[in-house]
Amino acid sequence: MTLHRQDGWRSAVMLLALFGPGSAASWTAAATSAAAPAADLIVTNAKVSTVDPARPECEAVAVIGERIVATGSRAEIDAWRGPATRVIDAGGRRVVPGFNDAHVHFVVGGMDLDNVDLKDAPTREEFVKRIAAQVAKTPKGEWVQGGNWDETMWSPATLPDRTLIDKVTGDTPVFLARYDGHMALANSAAIRLAGVTARTPDPPGGAIVHDASGAPNGLFKDAALSAIYKVIPPYTREQRMRAARRALQHAARLGVTSVQDMNPEYADMAVYAELLERGELTTRIYNAPPLAGWEDQAKLGIRRSFGSPWLRLGGLKGYADGSLGSTTAYFFQPFSDTPGNRGLLSDEMQPLSRMRERMVRADAAGLQLCIHAIGDQGISMILDLFADVVKANGVRDRRCRIEHAQHMAPKDFERFAAQHVIASMQPYHAIDDGRWAEKRIGPVRIKTTYAFRTFLDRGVRLAFGTDWSVAPLDPMQGLYAAVTRATLDGKNPDGWVPEQKISLKEALEAYTLGSAYAEFQEKEKGSITPGKLADLVILSDDIFAIDPKTIKNVTVRVTIAGGRVVYETGT
Ligand SMILES: [Zn+2]
Repeated sequence: MTLHRQDGWRSAVMLLALFGPGSAASWTAAATSAAAPAADLIVTNAKVSTVDPARPECEAVAVIGERIVATGSRAEIDAWRGPATRVIDAGGRRVVPGFNDAHVHFVVGGMDLDNVDLKDAPTREEFVKRIAAQVAKTPKGEWVQGGNWDETMWSPATLPDRTLIDKVTGDTPVFLARYDGHMALANSAAIRLAGVTARTPDPPGGAIVHDASGAPNGLFKDAALSAIYKVIPPYTREQRMRAARRALQHAARLGVTSVQDMNPEYADMAVYAELLERGELTTRIYNAPPLAGWEDQAKLGIRRSFGSPWLRLGGLKGYADGSLGSTTAYFFQPFSDTPGNRGLLSDEMQPLSRMRERMVRADAAGLQLCIHAIGDQGISMILDLFADVVKANGVRDRRCRIEHAQHMAPKDFERFAAQHVIASMQPYHAIDDGRWAEKRIGPVRIKTTYAFRTFLDRGVRLAFGTDWSVAPLDPMQGLYAAVTRATLDGKNPDGWVPEQKISLKEALEAYTLGSAYAEFQEKEKGSITPGKLADLVILSDDIFAIDPKTIKNVTVRVTIAGGRVVYETGT
């Protein structure tokens, strides 16, 4: 069947979807064919959670080309079978829409798959050992980067400094990010190359940490990270291409059929365009490059969600503040464990009038604002700015997003909902930060931390993701985190701030339809609905039947993106 390649195929497919292959309407719609069209692909003998309220459960799905044409019982879908139809028997397994990760750093994630992994280094000794091994396999002159270290795993949980790693790194420049991306550790070789000395001043929105003698101790926070980053040579096209391919493979294996890339470099977007041209994209990508460069997109007349189903742009990612882990999230009241410190506003927010002007003008150009805000005052200030944007440019469906939305002031839920702002959240962070967040912000503020339940109850739309490579890209970890809130240290088996748990159905919707809505694509994807793109996943186990504690162990058997099998177990 070539119906899907003809002009107007989509409306034909929609009609077919409505009336079925044997109906009069489908014969009219398929008038150019000699017979009722057959499906290219059928997934059958499945327990399908469609995330479509019109038909929440079904047994089988028929696909023509890139689109779903029918959902129904096994018998109903069998009518779509033709001699060339590929039939996948799901063996009674659970099928869900492909996952849409609303917040990733895709090329960085791909790079990290080959970088040193420090995230789970349980001790300082192991941390040093892994860095030494990475240095040994790094070509001379190249930097060692990545890492995602987490000192809270160690005892005592004190921050590392350059003296810890200088012995094993020698002349190889090393700049290793803390897992939250708001702090990084440089060795002496890197500090030397960057020309940072005891006299280098802190930039606005950043801090260079000093040792007792006043020399830089190797730790750089937020805006100060650029003091080192600016001397690291940019990645080559080949390096980016390799990383993007690694990331695509990884996403396909995990059932992630869409990602929303936050702060891609333009060179990353060029690589995606090249992969699109070669037919190599297996995950759909929406790009939100830095807000600071908003005019680049505006100049070309690009508006939110511009492009094709596989590759789009038109988002903008800005920053209000830092992170909780680095004590740079911006709060109304000081951190409980560092008195007098309320966090840091990002350099973009200083002065506030420039941030406001940038947001108003970018919005007027039709671009979508996705602003990172973690501390309660950081979030509050962004809500103020979103209100200013509406005042300046008028009411319309603009879908402003707050990325992370971690620590809410109770007073702000109502206007979050009233302003139709989307909470783009990463549930895995809750079971990660939940290990130590109370120590940092006390027993009251944690009640509205990762407040999934309150957001939904107040009518705020959630979009779920991971912030990969800050957290694992695996959606099962996110679903598990949202429904159990069981912290990674095992200390809260019944949930950390359990009143903020949500149901699996709600979490799945946030991770599929919710994320699609957050990129203006809810009519194209996000549920298993006739007419929508055929992005779906067959899971190893029925997440709705098993003990929620075991959701994190569920794997993907088959990933289908745009009607194409992009991953199968054993491949
Ligand atoms: Zn991020």
